[in-house]
Amino acid sequence: MTVRTRIAPSPTGDPHVGTAYIALFNLAFARQHGGQFILRIEDTDQARSTAASEQMILDSLRWLGLEWDEGPDVGGDCGPYRQSERRDIYAKHAQELLDKGHAFRCFCSSERLDELRKEQMANKQTPGYDGHCLHLSEQEVADRVAAGESHVVRMKVPSEGVCVVDDMLREPIEIDWAQVDMQVLVKADGMPTYHLANVVDDHLMKITHVIRGEEWINSAPKHLLLYKYFGWEAPVLCHMPLLRNPDKSKLSKRKNPTSIIYYQRMGYMAEALVNYLGRMGWSMPDEREKFSLTEMFENFDITRVSLGGPIFDQDKLSWLNGLWIREELTPEAFADAVKAWALNRDYLMPVVPLIQPRVDKFSDVIPLAGFFLSGMLELNESDFEHKSLERDQVRQVLQFALWQLEATRQWDKDSIFQGLGAVAKAMDIKIRDFLAPLFVAISGSSASVSVIDSMAILGPDIARARVRHALNTLGGASKKEAKRWEKEFKALATVA
Ligand code: GLU
Repeated sequence: MTVRTRIAPSPTGDPHVGTAYIALFNLAFARQHGGQFILRIEDTDQARSTAASEQMILDSLRWLGLEWDEGPDVGGDCGPYRQSERRDIYAKHAQELLDKGHAFRCFCSSERLDELRKEQMANKQTPGYDGHCLHLSEQEVADRVAAGESHVVRMKVPSEGVCVVDDMLREPIEIDWAQVDMQVLVKADGMPTYHLANVVDDHLMKITHVIRGEEWINSAPKHLLLYKYFGWEAPVLCHMPLLRNPDKSKLSKRKNPTSIIYYQRMGYMAEALVNYLGRMGWSMPDEREKFSLTEMFENFDITRVSLGGPIFDQDKLSWLNGLWIREELTPEAFADAVKAWALNRDYLMPVVPLIQPRVDKFSDVIPLAGFFLSGMLELNESDFEHKSLERDQVRQVLQFALWQLEATRQWDKDSIFQGLGAVAKAMDIKIRDFLAPLFVAISGSSASVSVIDSMAILGPDIARARVRHALNTLGGASKKEAKRWEKEFKALATVA
């Protein structure tokens, strides 16, 4: 048997360090066994998937050196590797389940399902489908389909007994079937859900080991049942511990930058970031902290993964990155690396229109544009003194701006401006005054190039991190205050 593993990201946002972490362990496992590593794009959520996000995921993983043997851009024998191009395959398989009696059509309206959910919640029951359409007669189903009535396809699930999920890192996990919902497999628009597409593809792409985040454990019974319904052998499952913030909560962009692009722009070396991700729940047999990808592959053993939630700590990462920079780069390689990082035309081009009109000589460039090439800025409380905004108002502006920036999906100049403009208006603060503390937060100075353009260029993670840093410089918001502000902010949204 050839070992085949995969990473199956959904292209719905910035490339997440968690994706790189799971990709790394799948790749290491495949390489250790002389197998193959596949990249599949799970873009069945058409409203949220974008081509730009897919491209960023591919670019980021490649930057990290996590190369795949088959995928949407490199091809392979089991393609297409993008789920949106495999609709017919899923339709055929859904039909097979219907024909065999393992799935059924459900015509329930979303109003009925909402009502049902509310009732179940009120009665403290696990929310789930109640089987309303499970026993419709064949004739009735045929008539309603012929009449064009909107419906989904759901899988049948045993009503009693337990499902035992074997996992490479755990004792067998037992989940009561009664807790497992009659999962929708095909949505009303004809698109498959994650569960159907994932199982069908893992089988057709001959995946032998599914190594993924532990948030998917609860989906395992549904998947194992689907394998059984199809008469296929299920892959071996392995659920990896989730990355955590230093306070042990799940790694999230509200607390920490999570985009690989952030770490690239901050000037971390790809080798160091991959090295650090390799230390998330895993260690070398000799416990050494610094190691290359090849060294990791040579020594890899998945059973050494420990389940205590690994902490993704930026200070530790910076320390490790420092080792890489100081110990692995010759002076020439260092100069080349800095150039490749930001001192090049691609990086500077978006900045040029902002600074060229304002400089008389090249030596003016760094003082003016240095904040485009920096991480967190040195800020003092006094930098935020403002003629018409009180200190507390400044803190509130920064917090509201941060929440608004966290909610901004489309990261471009116009969207950023519209969002912040609406908040300023709803707060009844002149946009000029509202933006003043943001100038300081983003550029370190109250008189600089356009703060909106700068945020668009710096990208969401750096911009948000700087605003968060500015807020902390002013003492942050107390828990009580944050709660009150959050309410006020939500109320503003209806005004804006
Ligand atoms: N598309 C899923 C994700 O975004 C894949 C989960 C899996 O590996 O099965 O994480």
